[in-house]
Amino acid sequence: MKIMPNRLDRGFFRYQKEFEQKALEVLRSGWYVLGQEVETFEREFAAYTGSEHCVGLASGLDALWLAFRILGIGAGDEVLVPANTYIASVMGITINGATPVFVEPDGYFNIDADRIEEKITDKTRAVLVVHLYGQACNMEKIVSLCQKHDLRLVEDCAQSHGACFQGKMTGTFGDIGCFSFYPSKNLGGFGDGGAIVTNDEAIASEMRIYRNYGSEKRYYNKVVGANSRLDELQAGLLRVRLRHIKELTDERRALAAGYREGIRNPAIRLPQVRPHADSVWHQYVIQCEQRQELIDHLNAREIGTIIHYPIPPHLSEAYGYLGYSRGSFPVTEHYADTVLSIPMYNGMTEEEQAYVIEAINHF
Ligand SMILES: *Cc1c(COP(=O)(O)O)cnc(C)c1O
Repeated sequence: MKIMPNRLDRGFFRYQKEFEQKALEVLRSGWYVLGQEVETFEREFAAYTGSEHCVGLASGLDALWLAFRILGIGAGDEVLVPANTYIASVMGITINGATPVFVEPDGYFNIDADRIEEKITDKTRAVLVVHLYGQACNMEKIVSLCQKHDLRLVEDCAQSHGACFQGKMTGTFGDIGCFSFYPSKNLGGFGDGGAIVTNDEAIASEMRIYRNYGSEKRYYNKVVGANSRLDELQAGLLRVRLRHIKELTDERRALAAGYREGIRNPAIRLPQVRPHADSVWHQYVIQCEQRQELIDHLNAREIGTIIHYPIPPHLSEAYGYLGYSRGSFPVTEHYADTVLSIPMYNGMTEEEQAYVIEAINHF
């Protein structure tokens, strides 16, 4: 049986009629960028997360860099960010000329809240948390640290649509929650897309200005903005997916439970869930000291896997200028050397999962 790490086609065919109907509706409307679908999606997504405002954007990276731009964070400022993250989180900071200050992760792959304070200097302006692989960070501690030190709090929720900490949704704890709707995300479109959520009316209206060349009124440009508009087709298709997000998330949780119960192999460490947090299982990430052997073993059985992520940002060529080297962040580097995402997608069948479990148990 051939099993790919992800199957976006399954997510399409399940709601094929609804997607096709919406696509035709938008195509025939004659209005394609920033319109009724975007406005409605923004209202629906804000309501879903429990925030007051949502602003649709062109990508998750745009959400991040525009968030820091609007908060006035740039050259000379430091932003604390998990060392164990996808590189886009860090780019959101450095595009603005600010300096990323890396914090090691805890046992749940997320920023270690107990190691934040030691990194705060008089230049620190903000903390960027990343709810990696779909699991919420320790927001109780992080929110109180930000209040204590008067720091801005931005959340990278590109992998955590719908994940909660103490029953409150990720994206609603800080000043700005940043989302991506890239096709493989838990709420995915059929192209690029992103959004921010916030309870701050001023931030939302600034974001609306920035996303459209810095203009509120056509041809009157207040600031040097960006072209980061969500299009009507994506917004309409995202509205279709959003209608089903609960069942999609429940399905991923059932798959995660299946792995938790089924995988019995002392060479494999299963992902843990933090008390008071939950995960929407963007990825199911196991750890194995003999990772390459495991990958080969699974490949031989036509099971695909992905490493999220093999090179941590501080060791990437892009951030060579920061001057870090191997050994700078040992916990992060150990994760990079041992993590493996096994197949996890909406539409995965019981037979497929049983096949993967059996192959892992035979390793
Ligand atoms: C996908 C992702 C992003 C970037 O989103 P894009 O829409 O691809 O720009 C940022 N942060 C994390 C953690 C991501 O997984």
